[in-house]
Amino acid sequence: MTNLSLLLLLLCGLGSQGFPANSETQEKDLETVQNYLEKFYNLKNDGTQIPRQKSNGPVVEKLKQMQKFFGLKITGKPDAETLNIMKQPRCGVPDVAPFVLTSGNPRWEKKQLTYRIENYTPDLPHAVVDSAIEKAFQLWSNVSPLTFTKVFQGEADIMLSFVYGDHRDNSPFDGPGGNLAHAFQPGPGIGGDVHFDEDEEWTNDFRDYNLYRVVAHELGHSLGLSHSTDIGALMYPNYIFSGEVHLSQDDINGIQTIYGRSSNDSSNPIGPQTPQACDSKLTFDAITTVRGEVMFLKDRFYMRINSYYPEVELNFISVFWPHLPNGIQAAYEEANRDEIRFFKGHKYWAVQGQNVLHGYPKDIYTSFGFPKSVKSIDAAVSEEETGKTYFFVANKYWRYDEHRRSMDAGYPQMIAHGFPGIGNKVDAVFIKDGFFYFFHGTRQYKFDPKTKRILTLLKANSWFNCRNN
Ligand code: ZN
Ligand code: CA
Ligand code: ZN
Repeated sequence: MTNLSLLLLLLCGLGSQGFPANSETQEKDLETVQNYLEKFYNLKNDGTQIPRQKSNGPVVEKLKQMQKFFGLKITGKPDAETLNIMKQPRCGVPDVAPFVLTSGNPRWEKKQLTYRIENYTPDLPHAVVDSAIEKAFQLWSNVSPLTFTKVFQGEADIMLSFVYGDHRDNSPFDGPGGNLAHAFQPGPGIGGDVHFDEDEEWTNDFRDYNLYRVVAHELGHSLGLSHSTDIGALMYPNYIFSGEVHLSQDDINGIQTIYGRSSNDSSNPIGPQTPQACDSKLTFDAITTVRGEVMFLKDRFYMRINSYYPEVELNFISVFWPHLPNGIQAAYEEANRDEIRFFKGHKYWAVQGQNVLHGYPKDIYTSFGFPKSVKSIDAAVSEEETGKTYFFVANKYWRYDEHRRSMDAGYPQMIAHGFPGIGNKVDAVFIKDGFFYFFHGTRQYKFDPKTKRILTLLKANSWFNCRNN
């Protein structure tokens, strides 16, 4: 039995996993799973492996490995979210070590490395390609003792080229999308070299695919790093571009584990960390309901409960709203208009579905009537039934009427007066089933607005499926 027919078997037993009924789509999805596991999880395709049982065959094992890597619920089945991740564009380097392992961790034994750009993509001016590649090298030299010198002829340590399809290194490219690029671990010859799929459209902006973003990732491989499971890391295998390219703390830890810190930089730069859903120290910037779901915002990321993820789904805010800034400070849903409003400083953005509405950002002074003394909003929430929106600023709160579109008289008031017991500062708040949930630091208060009493004191991350909650 071939792996493909095994997959068919698996899928038939899936039942209600949200799989498309259309058999043509199913066949296509099977191919996706098969190809993906062969390319990135070292699934062998010799047709001779006949698993004795469905539940422990190699395909199931590889699927489980893949699901573990991406933090998905480990089902061993190609469910919708697993397929969704498999269909995302990504780096062509496998997530598990290939059969032939060089002994020990591959690394360059010298600190002064050379690179050469062998050819150019027609998609961008040469100067733009040069600059993208130079900037990508700088990211890595900033946090390590490595230096990179560009050469124009002969063999450099790291050769970069744009190639099509089968380019004779046993790792053919696949046309537009799918694999974008790959790179070889440190070593002589092809070692360290970077290949870009010329079938992609390369850009220097937010359109697919940003060259600087892809070079920065591939160079990690050229220097000896493997893929990271940290979605905020540059070394995460899938292409995610949120407008900025920088090394996360995870990337910095990786490169410094191999080469040590930068020798001429005592500042020891640190990178952004990815929030951990079950970290007992986790705090939030803002929380809002979104069409019945609750979204927790932190730095560049959102978190939400999703049945495909064991603890919580974590991803970039830019996946939904590419035009929002990072570090949103407050957010609320105005359900009657089906709008979510995001606040940062004195600006706010209104979105409907995935679209930022025209004319935004606007300022909070003209729209809501805040005095100029208010520089930013800590937290906000709106009651659907009454159309009243509460804005929390330091130890006070304002009440705004969404129907009349004006601030109610008699505000601001002290938080201690309107919401006794929740403290003098609110990080984030949302309403569910008539109760307010206030967040401050690692604490969360369930508050009953009718009796003006706190019902329960909870950990901030109590909504996630953490073991210790
Ligand atoms: Zn990669
Ligand atoms: Ca491709
Ligand atoms: Zn190649």
